[in-house]
Amino acid sequence: MISNSKLKPCPFCGDSVNIMYNSALNVFHVYHDNEECKFNEFEIDGYYANSLKEAYDIWNTRSTN
Ligand SMILES: [Zn+2]
Repeated sequence: MISNSKLKPCPFCGDSVNIMYNSALNVFHVYHDNEECKFNEFEIDGYYANSLKEAYDIWNTRSTN
């Protein structure tokens, strides 16, 4: 298991997020506690991330932009 503490908070709302993989759609969904954030259910295409760790890395890179 990957600890949630490795995920940076959302750069827009500041809430903590969770990433879950949807194997049917081959996408990673970034879920927020804050459902009003425009980044809630932000999608990372499985084309760019072959594992949950890579999805985490993509999210963490985005949040520093
Ligand atoms: Zn957010």
